[in-house]
Amino acid sequence: MKIGVIGTGYVGLVVGAGLAHTGNDVVCADIDDEKIQGLKEGKIPIYEPGLEELVHENLGAGRLTFTTDVPAAVRRSRILFIAVGTPPGEDGSADLQHVLAVAREIGRAMDGERIVITKSTVPVGTARKVREAIQAETDHRVHVCSNPEFLKEGAAVDDFMKPDRVVLGVDNEAVGRELQSLYEPFVRTGNQILLMDIASAEITKYAANAMLATRISFMNMIAGLCQAAGADADQVRLGVGSDDRIGPSFLFPGIGYGGSCFPKDVKAMVRTLRDTGIDAGILEAVEAMNESQKRFPLRILDQALGTDLSGRRIAIWGLSFKPNTDDMREAPSLVTVEGVLERGGEVVAHDPVAMEEARRLHFGDRIEYAENNYQALEGADALVLHTEWHPYRRPDFQRMRQLMRGDLVVDGRNIFPVQKMVEVGFRYHSIGRPPVIPAES
Ligand code: NAD
Repeated sequence: MKIGVIGTGYVGLVVGAGLAHTGNDVVCADIDDEKIQGLKEGKIPIYEPGLEELVHENLGAGRLTFTTDVPAAVRRSRILFIAVGTPPGEDGSADLQHVLAVAREIGRAMDGERIVITKSTVPVGTARKVREAIQAETDHRVHVCSNPEFLKEGAAVDDFMKPDRVVLGVDNEAVGRELQSLYEPFVRTGNQILLMDIASAEITKYAANAMLATRISFMNMIAGLCQAAGADADQVRLGVGSDDRIGPSFLFPGIGYGGSCFPKDVKAMVRTLRDTGIDAGILEAVEAMNESQKRFPLRILDQALGTDLSGRRIAIWGLSFKPNTDDMREAPSLVTVEGVLERGGEVVAHDPVAMEEARRLHFGDRIEYAENNYQALEGADALVLHTEWHPYRRPDFQRMRQLMRGDLVVDGRNIFPVQKMVEVGFRYHSIGRPPVIPAES
C-alpha cells in the first residue's frame, strides 16, 4: 500500500517507520527542512528506544522515504495520515491550524480518490472540518477517518508495533475493511481492531488520556492526605492497586504529569465539555492538582533553604518529563529550574538524554550541565530528582552525601529507599511518605 504520513514528529516518524516495516511503501513528509535532510541521512531527531534501527532498516530497504514536498507525497499515496501537532490554543482548546493547513494542502494536491486519516489528537467534530477543508479545494472523492494514536513516548515503537487496540473511526464499510487490513499485521496475537463511528473514535483518545491523568491527580491528592496523616502513599498505592477493579497502573504518586499529551489533552477536553454545556469540574480539579504538584520541589526548597537562593547550588537529576525520552514539553523540571533561577540560585542538571534538548529549547547557558549524575552533586545544597531514569534508582548514596555540601534530597518520584536515606543522613522529602529529618538538623 502506498502511504503518506504528513508531519514527521514523535508520532509521524514512528507510524511511518512502523507501517513501512510491514511492507508498505511509505513517504514521511514534513515542512522542517533540517529534520528531513537529517532523516534522509539516517539521523533520528528524537530519542526513542528502537526507533533508529527501525528507520535504518526500512530506509535501507527502500520502503521508507522522506520529503519536504507535501504535494508530491499526496499525489503518490492512496492513504494519507495527518500527524502534525495540535498544541493548546489560548483558551485551552486544541489549535487545529496545522491540521487544517495540511487538509487544504491535501485538497489542492489530490489527483484522485484518497483516504485521509487524522492521527493527530483532535476534538470531536474535527473530521468534518478536515473533510470540508479538503473538499473546498477539490472535486475528487475523499474519505476522512479518525485513527487516534495511543503510543507512549519512551516505548513508542513497541506500542505501535504491538498495540493494546487499534481504534478506527470510519463512515464507510469498504474503507473500514481497507484500514483493518493495514493494521492486521500488528494485532496477530488477538488484540482488537475496534471499528466505530468517527465521533466515538475522536472522543476515545481524549477519554483515555483524561482517565489516566485523573488517576495520577487522584493519587497525588491521596498522597497529600498520607503526608498529613503520617501514612505511606506507596503502601496505600499497593493496597488500592491490587483490587482487580482498579489495577496497579498509573497510581504512582509524584510531582505531576507532563509531556506533550496529558496537559494539553486535559485542557482541550475541559474546553470541549464547557462548550458543550457539560460540567468539566472533574477535569478542572485534575489539572489544578497537577499544577500544584509540579510546585512540590519549590515548596520544599522554600521551607528548607528560604526563598532567597543566592549562593545556593541546586542539583537536578532528570529533565525529561518521563524516562526513555528526551521530550521536555510541560516537564515538571521546567517549573523547578525556572523557580530556582528566579530565586537567585544556581542550577546544575543531569539527564541521560535530554540535556541537548534542554539547552537548545529552554535554558541555554542559564544552567550548568553535568557530565554524569554524580558530577551534578559536587558542592550542591540540595538534589531534586524529577525523572525516574533507571541509573538514578540505586546510586551510591554514601558518595552522594560526600559530594554534596548540603543534605537535602527531594525525590519527586519516590525511587530512593527511605531507610537508606535515614542511614546515610539525608534530609529527605518524597511524595506522600513521611519526611526524613536527621537528628542534628
Ligand atoms: P511533533 O511536534 O513532534 O511533530 C509534529 C510535526 O509536524 C513537526 O515535525 C512539524 O514540523 C510538522 N508539521 C507542522 N505543520 C506541518 C505542515 N503544515 N506540513 C507538514 N508537516 C508539518 O508532534 P507529535 O508529538 O508527533 O504529535 C503529533 C500529534 O499526535 C499531536 O496531535 C499529538 O497530540 C498526537 N499524539 C502524540 C503522542 C506523543 O506521545 N507525542 C501520542 C499520541 C498522539
